[in-house]
Amino acid sequence: MKEEILKLIKLQAIDSEIAGFDLAIAKHRAAIAGREQAITEKQESIAHFRTKIELLNQKQLETKAEHDEAGARVKDRQNKMMQVQTSREHQALLKEIEENKRLVKETEDRILQFIEQIEQLEQEVATLENLCAGEQQVLDEEREHVDEEIKRIDAAKHSVASQREAEASALQGPYLKRYTMLLAKRDGLAVVAVNDSVCQGCYMALPPQQVIEVRKAEKFNLCPTCQRILYYKEAEETVVEP
Ligand SMILES: [Zn+2]
Repeated sequence: MKEEILKLIKLQAIDSEIAGFDLAIAKHRAAIAGREQAITEKQESIAHFRTKIELLNQKQLETKAEHDEAGARVKDRQNKMMQVQTSREHQALLKEIEENKRLVKETEDRILQFIEQIEQLEQEVATLENLCAGEQQVLDEEREHVDEEIKRIDAAKHSVASQREAEASALQGPYLKRYTMLLAKRDGLAVVAVNDSVCQGCYMALPPQQVIEVRKAEKFNLCPTCQRILYYKEAEETVVEP
C-alpha cells in the first residue's frame, strides 16, 4: 500500500505542475485580453467624442447662418431708415434693428461656446489617440513576449505530460480511477498531506486515530470531510508527535 501511495503523491505533484502551467498560460492570455479591452474602450470613447464634435460643428454652422441673416437684416433696416416718412415706421424699424443686433450678439456668443466645446473635445480625442498608440505599442511587444512564453510553457508541459503517462500507467487501475475522479471533483487536488492533524485539502482537523492510520499507510485513508486521499508527511513528524 505504501508504494501505491507514493506513486499517487508523485502523480499529484505532476498534475499540480501541469495545472500550474495551464494557469500561467491563462494568466498571460488574460493580461493580453485586458490590454486589448483597455484600447477598445478608449477607441469607443474617441468615436463617441467624434460624433459629438460633428454635431457641434453642425450646430455651429446653423448658428453662423442665423448670425449672418440677423446681420443682413440690421443692414437692410438701416438702409430703409433713410427712406421712412412717418415716425411710426421709424419706431418699427428701430425696434427691428435692436432685436436683430441682439440676435447678432447672442449668436456670436453661442458660436464661441461651440468653438470652445469643440476644441476641448478635440483635445480629449488627441490625448486618447496618443494613449491608444502607446498602449498598442506595448500590446504588440507584450504579445510577442507572451507568444514566446506560452511556447516555452507548452514545451515544459509536454515533457511533464509524457512523464505523467508513465506514472499513471504504473498505478493499479482502481487507484488511478479513484484518483482521477477526485482530481476532477476536488479542483485538481486529490492527494493531500496531513499536517499537524489537519487535512491540507480542506483544512479540517482529523480524528487522532485516523492520523495514526494515515501514518501507518497500511490502507487507503480518505479525509472524512473532503474525501481526498491522505498521506503523512515524514518531515512534519516532530510537529505531530506529542
Ligand atoms: Zn479534507
